[in-house]
Amino acid sequence: MSVVPTNLAGMGSFLDAPLAKLLGRGAAALDKAFGYRTNEDLLRHLPRRYEDPATPTDLSGLRLGENVAVMARVAAASARPIQGRGLTLFTARVTDDVRSLTLTFFLKRQWTVDWYQNAFRQGRMGLFTGTVEAYRGKLQLVHPAVLWVGRDEQDQEAAFIEAGKPTPVYPATASLTSPKIAGAIQTLLGALGSDELPDPLPPRLLHQRGLPSLTHAFHLVHHPAADAEWRLARDRFRFEEAYVLQVALARRRRELAAVPAVARPRAEGPGSLLARFDAALPFTLTQAQRQVGEKIAELLALPTPMNQLLQGDVGSGKTVVALRAALQVVAAGGQVALLAPTEVLAAQHCQTIRNLLGPLGEEGLLATGGDGIGLRLLTGSLTPKAKAAVLADMATGRAGLVVGTHALLQEAVAFHDLGLVVVDEQHRFGVEQRDALRSRADVAPHLLVMTATPIPRTVAMTVFGDLGVLVLGQAPPGRSPVSTVWVNPGEHPSWLSRVWERVAEEVAAGHRAFVVCPAIEPGQVEEGTDLIDDETPGEWGGVEEGALAFPLPGTPPPAPRRPPVSVAETLDKLAATPCLQGVKLAALHGRLPAEVKDRTMAAFAAGQIDVLVATTVIEVGIDIPAATALVVLDADRFGLSQLHQLRGRVGRGEAAGVCLLVSEAAAGSVAASRLEAMVATTDGFQLAEVDLENRHEGDILGAAQSGNRSALRLLRVVKDAGLIGEARVAAEALVAEDPTLAGYPALAAAVERVVGEREDFLERG
Ligand code: ADP
Ligand code: MG
Repeated sequence: MSVVPTNLAGMGSFLDAPLAKLLGRGAAALDKAFGYRTNEDLLRHLPRRYEDPATPTDLSGLRLGENVAVMARVAAASARPIQGRGLTLFTARVTDDVRSLTLTFFLKRQWTVDWYQNAFRQGRMGLFTGTVEAYRGKLQLVHPAVLWVGRDEQDQEAAFIEAGKPTPVYPATASLTSPKIAGAIQTLLGALGSDELPDPLPPRLLHQRGLPSLTHAFHLVHHPAADAEWRLARDRFRFEEAYVLQVALARRRRELAAVPAVARPRAEGPGSLLARFDAALPFTLTQAQRQVGEKIAELLALPTPMNQLLQGDVGSGKTVVALRAALQVVAAGGQVALLAPTEVLAAQHCQTIRNLLGPLGEEGLLATGGDGIGLRLLTGSLTPKAKAAVLADMATGRAGLVVGTHALLQEAVAFHDLGLVVVDEQHRFGVEQRDALRSRADVAPHLLVMTATPIPRTVAMTVFGDLGVLVLGQAPPGRSPVSTVWVNPGEHPSWLSRVWERVAEEVAAGHRAFVVCPAIEPGQVEEGTDLIDDETPGEWGGVEEGALAFPLPGTPPPAPRRPPVSVAETLDKLAATPCLQGVKLAALHGRLPAEVKDRTMAAFAAGQIDVLVATTVIEVGIDIPAATALVVLDADRFGLSQLHQLRGRVGRGEAAGVCLLVSEAAAGSVAASRLEAMVATTDGFQLAEVDLENRHEGDILGAAQSGNRSALRLLRVVKDAGLIGEARVAAEALVAEDPTLAGYPALAAAVERVVGEREDFLERG
């Protein structure tokens, strides 16, 4: 044992010490396979599962197929080459003086043969562990694990106990096998002994929850005497993960609350902007809109920045809520920026808002003393002159409400007094962007992030922990139901023609339809499309825990998947479909120039185009009440949240909507279960939960498409919801008591690490 640290500081350096110090040359393989450099990296490589212990038995109790550990003496050993295979067959006969058993090894290299021959000396006592097999009517163990034991009873007893423990099975690679990893970890544990490591979890908390210390947990998880031990350790690591993340978030909330903001109190009275707006609305606000609006009004009136996430299903009426917040801020002298994810949506939003505001949208109240708020649209498709004019109005304050994309928040764009930022569709506006926004001035603007992606509470607590959550639960009255059908042309080829007939019928009835494809052209998937490939399950997806990581020899490789259907092919195909003759078709996707997109959308809205063959660019916000039919091709390639968003594009008017999901997914597959969920429910929250059960929370939010992992490794946001909630309460208490974590250096270090990883992950948002 080379490391015998005596104090905590020394133990801290044990965790940070390079692996090579204890493992020598073996460290390189661990670096290559997993990127592990330090003792801590390797100690946190937790087993994927545990193999049941072998049954200790003697040679009289052998049963075929049983995993056994037998104590016996070597009676004889021999080696002979296997013709033409380049292998040596090494067999040993072991005995308990009465019965005997054959051990068989297939060896590749001469030096291993020598080594075996030397090891299996006659009379030597060993514990042999393996599965009992039969060969030519005789029982044998093939490649058993071998543990040599001494003559004395105690030694043999200890070996039996060891064999009766669960064996960790580690995530491994072809060359760095689980037993090799286990060996390396045992070396570290031997050096560590029982010295206590600096623990991110405060002792008080360990005590309260009955959890083992870090040192103890490493021993329990890597070398358990029984299942209960590794379970206890696993509980500890799960709680640690939740706790460290929640401490990071609690600190973040504290920091955010410490930045000053300008209070924008509500102007009361019948003549106020808000009162005039409400009076002119063509509908009455729902109770949900009123309540959420009330809460936002209160938060805007405080001198600390509002940071709220407004969740409301598609069509729940978020725009009006945002507008009312905007009016409060403008009336109090501030400006408002409203960000949409794309230029198409920004333009459409601006039009919707202009209609809703009526005369209030016009003259600039702020700069000119006029009556309206000065609504402006700033997009890349403006002429340089028009753009300069908008920028000037923003700088002077003449523009009260500016609609645009993220470009609005660029360095060069100056507001006179930015009081509120509204972000429509959060999942393209991650933590980094939120931070960039907040750090723009000494005074932070208020922030309202709106999303139609239903986010279960635990995801909100982990990924959006810096935002408060408001939910717009109740939809405005008078929406039409959308019926959903899964059409499988693989089983019924004629059904696809029925789909196009149905589209033709909708058009004949004066309605419009969307046909959505994953790709723009063959092989060119639309940006932001949450493309799913069930054939290549990710780290968390598809493969059952403990399933074979490598295909068995002889398993055929999975057939390559057909590339996803594209807008280009579909447009050609529909143009040639008899029942669609005379129907006006057009394409819409992210590669088109902004003005073409705008023109196409306008023509579709005006009814000059009947069927829009599009990518997911129509996913968010597009509001065309006359659109009643949605056809999604290769529907199983989309995530549930995305399908739900797409479905929200129809049924926005008086006529009932229909959603036809076209997919050849095989019955019983994961893809089929997604489609079935879509057919079964229109409740976005329920769909989000289904999605979460099958996938990782980062995938749901569209942020982990390139395989980037989130800060959550051991936790599943649905299953561990209770644990995450408890960790949050504990974290808040600790941060309130010691905001800088000065008294908790190990915790502070763990938080630092998680913040770094989290930001890597979330900046992709
Ligand atoms: P989303 O939450 O998806 O952004 P919108 O704000 O676009 O929803 O609202 C959907 C539709 O419902 C719009 O046409 C909007 O004018 C309308 N709407 C909003 N609030 C109400 C209400 N209280 N009563 C009736 N219709 C409403
Ligand atoms: Mg909207």
